[in-house]
Amino acid sequence: MRERKSINEILYATMPTPKEIRGLKNIDSLTAAEHDLLAVALGAPARQVMLRAEEIGPRTGWKDGYLSVEHGFCPPDYSESPAALANSPGRIWSDLCERMPGCVARGKIRESIAALPLIEGTEDVIPDQALWAAVVALGMLCSIYRYEDKNDGHEGVTTGTTRWKPNVEMGDDLCEELIGIPRCIALPYWQVSRRIGRAIPHLTFFDQASLNMKIKDPNSKYPYVGRFDNMEMRWPVFGERTEMAFQKGCAETSASFQHGPDAIAACQEHVMNRNVEGLLRELIRLKEILERMPNAFHSINTNPNSGENYVPGHQWIRWGKFSAPLSRRCPASSGLQFPPFLVMDAFLGRRKYDSFLGREGLHLRAWLPSNLRAFIAAVEYHYSIPEFVKQSGDPRLMGVLDGIIEAYTGERGFMGTHRYKVFGILEIASKTGRTETNGLSGAPDSNARPWEETHRQFSESMKERLEPFRGTIDIEPNEMRGTFAECRYRSRILSRSFVDSDPNRSVAMVTMDLHNTGITFQPGDRLAIMPLNSWAEIAKVAAALGLAEYLDHPITLNKSWQRFARHLGEVRHTEAPQLTVKDILRRGHLAPITKDLALKVHDMLRASSTTVLQVLATPEWPVRGSLGDLLQAAVADTAPHIWDKAFDLSTGDFAWLAELIPVEVPRTYSISNYNADELLPSTVDLTISRAEYNLCSTFAGEGNKVVCAGVGSGFLNPFPNSGEELIETDDDVLIGVSRPLNFQLPIERAAPCAYFAGGSGIAPFRSFWQARFASRSSSSGRDVLFLGVQSREKFCYEEELRGYVEAGVMEVHLAFSRDERGLVYDRRMRDLVEKEMPPRYIDALIVEQAGVVAELVMSKKQGGLGGYLYVCGSVAVFDSVMNGIRKAIYNHCSSSMEVAEQILNKAFAERRFMLDVFMTPKPLPCNVPTIPLSQLARNTGHRPGGRMWIAVHGNVYDMTDFVPMHPGGTIIIQSNAGVDCSKTFDNLAHTNNPEVASLLTKYYVGPLTPKPDFHGSQELSSMYDLWAAYLRTTVETLVSHRFEAFELLGTSTSLEANGVDVWSRSEGTPSLNIGGVRIFYDYQSRLLQSGFTALFGPKLQELVLKLSFCLADATAGVDARLPDVLGVVARAQMCPDAVAAQHEISLVGEFVCDRSSHVRFAERGILNYAARSVELDIEMLEDMREEACHGMDAFDAIAADMAAGGAGQKNHAAVLAAFLLQILERMAKRLEIFYAKLARLKVYQPELEVNPARARWNLVRTKVRDGSFFLLTQEAVLGAEARRRGKGDVVDFDSVLNRVQASLRSNTNRANIPKLTAPDPATATLNSVHLTRGAPDSEQLSTNALAAHGNNAALRAMSNFLDANRRAIRRLSKVPPLTFEQLAAQFEGSTTVQRPPTPPSSTSDADSVSNTGGPRAATSLEKMLAAAAMNTTGARPLNMRRNTVAAGTRGRSRSPSVFSNHHTAGMNANHAHAHSMSMSMGAGGLGIRSPPTPPLDATAAVAALMSKLNRAGESTMLPKGNWAAFPEFIAEFCNLAENCSMDAVTKVRLLREKVSKPLRTALINVIDRPAANDFAKWTELFSKIATNIESDNSVNKLARGANNNQNGGGGRDPDAMVIDAVRVKGPNSAGKHLPHEDLEYRLKNGLCLNCKQMYC
Ligand SMILES: Cc1cc2nc3c(=O)[nH]c(=O)nc-3n(C[C@H](O)[C@H](O)[C@H](O)COP(=O)(O)OP(=O)(O)OC[C@H]3O[C@@H](n4cnc5c(N)ncnc54)[C@H](O)[C@@H]3O)c2cc1C
Repeated sequence: MRERKSINEILYATMPTPKEIRGLKNIDSLTAAEHDLLAVALGAPARQVMLRAEEIGPRTGWKDGYLSVEHGFCPPDYSESPAALANSPGRIWSDLCERMPGCVARGKIRESIAALPLIEGTEDVIPDQALWAAVVALGMLCSIYRYEDKNDGHEGVTTGTTRWKPNVEMGDDLCEELIGIPRCIALPYWQVSRRIGRAIPHLTFFDQASLNMKIKDPNSKYPYVGRFDNMEMRWPVFGERTEMAFQKGCAETSASFQHGPDAIAACQEHVMNRNVEGLLRELIRLKEILERMPNAFHSINTNPNSGENYVPGHQWIRWGKFSAPLSRRCPASSGLQFPPFLVMDAFLGRRKYDSFLGREGLHLRAWLPSNLRAFIAAVEYHYSIPEFVKQSGDPRLMGVLDGIIEAYTGERGFMGTHRYKVFGILEIASKTGRTETNGLSGAPDSNARPWEETHRQFSESMKERLEPFRGTIDIEPNEMRGTFAECRYRSRILSRSFVDSDPNRSVAMVTMDLHNTGITFQPGDRLAIMPLNSWAEIAKVAAALGLAEYLDHPITLNKSWQRFARHLGEVRHTEAPQLTVKDILRRGHLAPITKDLALKVHDMLRASSTTVLQVLATPEWPVRGSLGDLLQAAVADTAPHIWDKAFDLSTGDFAWLAELIPVEVPRTYSISNYNADELLPSTVDLTISRAEYNLCSTFAGEGNKVVCAGVGSGFLNPFPNSGEELIETDDDVLIGVSRPLNFQLPIERAAPCAYFAGGSGIAPFRSFWQARFASRSSSSGRDVLFLGVQSREKFCYEEELRGYVEAGVMEVHLAFSRDERGLVYDRRMRDLVEKEMPPRYIDALIVEQAGVVAELVMSKKQGGLGGYLYVCGSVAVFDSVMNGIRKAIYNHCSSSMEVAEQILNKAFAERRFMLDVFMTPKPLPCNVPTIPLSQLARNTGHRPGGRMWIAVHGNVYDMTDFVPMHPGGTIIIQSNAGVDCSKTFDNLAHTNNPEVASLLTKYYVGPLTPKPDFHGSQELSSMYDLWAAYLRTTVETLVSHRFEAFELLGTSTSLEANGVDVWSRSEGTPSLNIGGVRIFYDYQSRLLQSGFTALFGPKLQELVLKLSFCLADATAGVDARLPDVLGVVARAQMCPDAVAAQHEISLVGEFVCDRSSHVRFAERGILNYAARSVELDIEMLEDMREEACHGMDAFDAIAADMAAGGAGQKNHAAVLAAFLLQILERMAKRLEIFYAKLARLKVYQPELEVNPARARWNLVRTKVRDGSFFLLTQEAVLGAEARRRGKGDVVDFDSVLNRVQASLRSNTNRANIPKLTAPDPATATLNSVHLTRGAPDSEQLSTNALAAHGNNAALRAMSNFLDANRRAIRRLSKVPPLTFEQLAAQFEGSTTVQRPPTPPSSTSDADSVSNTGGPRAATSLEKMLAAAAMNTTGARPLNMRRNTVAAGTRGRSRSPSVFSNHHTAGMNANHAHAHSMSMSMGAGGLGIRSPPTPPLDATAAVAALMSKLNRAGESTMLPKGNWAAFPEFIAEFCNLAENCSMDAVTKVRLLREKVSKPLRTALINVIDRPAANDFAKWTELFSKIATNIESDNSVNKLARGANNNQNGGGGRDPDAMVIDAVRVKGPNSAGKHLPHEDLEYRLKNGLCLNCKQMYC
């Protein structure tokens, strides 16, 4: 019962004394205001709304909306309404809903809906009690009907299936929303919607999530009923993991606010009753509720190991489309409509709703159920709680309210956590398949990537919420992390106590005052403290700068100090204070010396101090010393006039001091106490270990050892003899509390816990056990502590722990690393018994206790105890503990280390293994070799066994070992593998996070090679940026496809651990899981439909355009011949192979959408097809990345050349452009090859099926019926048509321009892609965004959001480029064509290069040339020039080339230009180098055509060609399998044959001779051979045999799991085709007598084995 007081007691309790009354003129002011009287008489409005709702809700089926004291906005009984529906005729709807995932999977849901009888939704048929369930069931049915109707059951590639339409009456006449939906569900939906107060029928977010749940155990109420683990979805639509986990997560968010409405109503009552203590109680309660809300985010996990919490990002696509609104008029289904958010906004008095999300929230609020709207209005319009708190001036109320604001909308609160969570999930979803999301993330005018844009919008709405309290905020919330902004309270140090018997007090318990702060905390929470510099350090700086007399002098502040001053004012509830010299010195960063700080001093002293220079030359940063040390040393070696000018005291504003010294950042300490009985804790204990380091020798003097204390720990726990604590100070210590999401006690007290601590790592565990033992009962779980310390003297909290051991509540196991006086836990005696033993570390202790530890780690399902394990201490402790645990599991219960690792990973994924690694970042060495971007890109770790690197702010880290432990899930790191993810780090507030910074130092590999210096060449610089962005795209495409691909292949190690197999049914049914087929169908369709849009779309066009322009421009007005990159791509995408591949995948679509189709007899064929095609996809993407890496390396080579004083910039750019264009051409050709290979894979493989005869018969029957039987028989033998290399692969600049312009035109004309005409984000609504997302398949929808965003940007860039270079383009596009030789000649004069830089990929071939041109090694530029020349020259039709080669160039011993004819008899060393360079850069096989010099000896040329084609071992540029080179070989053979004017019979004979043994062997089995002169047929036949053999090889490899090389290669397959040069025999068995090295050199370089010329 709520306490009720009389009106007089409340309103007239503070009547003034007679004396005060006597002084008053207006006595009327003593009477209470009428609205106060009325309110007190009637009660608080929010409470009244609640009481009314509770009174009539049960009678009316809660049709006004759920609202009650105990259950808040949740239904009191989640099953009541569905049960009522099941008891009414409406049961047919709920029955169908139960069958929904199955029907959808079979493609039968529309048929099932249309077959329903019409049951009306009127009161006489559907009782009020069943109303909500009816609204939910019918809403889901209507939406799924609409969804299926739009996609016609197909969500991917189709081959023109006819649309299915039921012959039933539709609900078209009812309203716009129900057009095209069968009347049998449309009419009742219309009726029940109106009864529930919805003017038009629509599905809301809480219909789908909150109200569509079943509670497993209604009695399990702690701390709220609707927990993730206590719920299951009632009516899932697709039954996919994403849907289930996401919906349950959303439902939990709402349910965790279960008691929020009551707390809010109570707050309002107390405000009305002016009850400060009551309000304080309720505010604290509300704060606790809000602090619990982010827990729901754990339930949505992107870690594949996380069981039912796992949300695969790529599965968003379908669910996202399904939730599209029924019409343009509907309110969108969005989490913005969740009542807890809307009511909290009202409670905190949010005034601004200008952001997109703000506007939508307000719009959706108007569509909430009536009770909820009334409640929110009651909170918003009456008795503002924040205002009352402010007026009260009570610091406790203000502190708690501040805590509420932080908990709800702060950076570490619900909104901040939500923002980070969404960022991670959206990043993955955008990279895989999701096309749109709330908040117009793909807004066309935004430069940010989709998830970054959403992140920004969340930030906008967070700032709007904070605005009433913090005013206008000019930084992003993530920029507040790790800064003073986290410390919003004032405190002071009360005491420092000894906690062990170490007289040095290296660890101390520091107690701080929390009185009147309003701070509350939980076990595991942390305190952030802004440290104050020691007086000794302040004195050093002040003395050096002559500031001792100016300590109280005010200072002109820069922006960040101004922000700090404002913050200080806010915390003190005053105006921003005027900061003085002392403030800057006390609160600024003085130590350690960062590079920035040293550089500033260096600049100020005009580089005159040798000490500073010495410091700058340090091999590691930061330097162990302070600004004071630096200045003290520098003052001695700097000229006084420079010093005085730098640190000028004469002007009196000292602005330079604020510029020099940045604001210090807070330190984090685990809270070491907990008292459940205190409403507001009065003190907080910290266990502080003093960080000590040796002052660097520059300051200490060589050989001297000066021990210093860290800033934070030295302030809190100074050296006992330093005298620091004796100095009185009135400085406020700024503090703040933060809650690590991943370091909390389990909810259930019965769960056993193990704590692993090293040294002061015991800190948080003290709060844990104080909390656990306060509520101990007989059913409490075990508490086991493993503690490692140096010696008995350093055993902290010994007395306290012995007390627990004696009481039998805790087991304590100890390891002393430098002490033989051991202590052993004796369970029976309940004591720690003395025992001599060798010193040991904590890992040895853990291994000793292996049984206990292993049982605790194993999950209950694995038969273990499913305990919660916590590790706390430095990174070294963490390593030691993890090693110990691994060994313990291995010794106790696993057969191998891998299994032990999996058991451990499982515990991490189940969030039972939590870390609190606290340490200071280690200084990083800066003298290690740099890591090129290409090397980073190659380490994506997507293949088992590979390493996974990331780059952050100029450094590269190897995250492989950390991935399974990442609290944010594995996938988010994996999706950033191989790229620079600094922006993500900034956005996720990792950059300033001390924990992250500490951990990163552990995984440091080296510095990233910075962007090369192009000596001011804008052209090269922008070319670099463009290529780097393209390389990034190749890497991101590869790693994002990895998520799905390896899920499909089932080869991801993490998936293996979890045993997820998308292909088989979970319940052990033998048949294929349609869900898996669907995943594959969607995946492969997207890949084909969008034609690798990110790689071959506008981004590629932009590169081609700009590189072609550069090349054409370099000819100074004469047109160049360019590789036809865009033409090759276009042809590849439309070639018969591409069509055949699409046809095959559409067959899988048929299987997905119509299980009754004949495709059902191809189950195993589909599996086989999926395995092989997915492997092909990945290989293709790997090849693309590899090509891009080579391009990237070329930039370094060029830069090295420039640095070496090479040719002029213009030529560098042109040469590079030529080279890059060749690479792009090869990429384009890889697409051709990919389609050719894919086209050869077939779904129909009767021999694989369980019942081959039936499969065959069905195949034949279908084909006979559709008339394709005879065609098929041919196909079955020969497969698809062989790919022939086109001859017109060379174009001029005009042609490139035409293609680009055509692409721009077509994209701008298209309505939906690339959204150049997308709606203005300022006026767009969520509804329109969702409608776009839910539109039937279009090109846009098959393109993931990231690719679409990138392509949009590229289109805009191209358009701008064309505009900006209009004149030059006009000039270039009209001139007559120029041959590449001419182009080369243009460069000739200026390309002499002096010094020999070494390009990364050409070193091995650098010095193996002998007979021509002298010993000078070729420079990288020369090699590149040559490679480009060869490639481009070779790309021209051969007959044409024959006429253009100048005879006079033959036989030159040393060419002045590497572009001279290198096919002459006397090919010089540089050419040979250049050739080998082009080989090693992968030109072999694809880019290079055989050079032309007549007369050609076909045999020698073929031998040379073959050797070129067999570079797989040396060059990763070749396709993976050796067979993959075969199409190229054939193409080249054709060209050569043509040039040699061979007759057809000779050609065939030669071909048959030259193919490898396995091919010849395979030929034996071919009965139906082509005629001896039918060269075309023979090539076709060999291609097919080659492809078949390769496919078989790769399948075998797949089956054997042999391919475990991350770059896709693995060792050479011994069975693979050997078009191996070693086996090639020339007509005279040349090479037989050659020395081995020479033979190898000739083979490597494609030189004749007889005469050592390229073409003899
Ligand atoms: C989550 C968490 C919980 C923690 N809990 C506790 C606890 O309960 N008890 C406890 O004693 N400690 C705890 N710590 C550690 C604590 O936060 C401090 O890191 C520690 O006290 C040292 O800080 P300092 O100011 O004394 O040292 P600093 O003055 O920061 O310097 C100490 C050393 O670190 C180096 N260093 C400093 N900054 C950098 C940098 N940016 N890059 C490279 N090197 C750098 C310095 O050269 C020096 O050697 C915790 C840390 C974290 C992250």
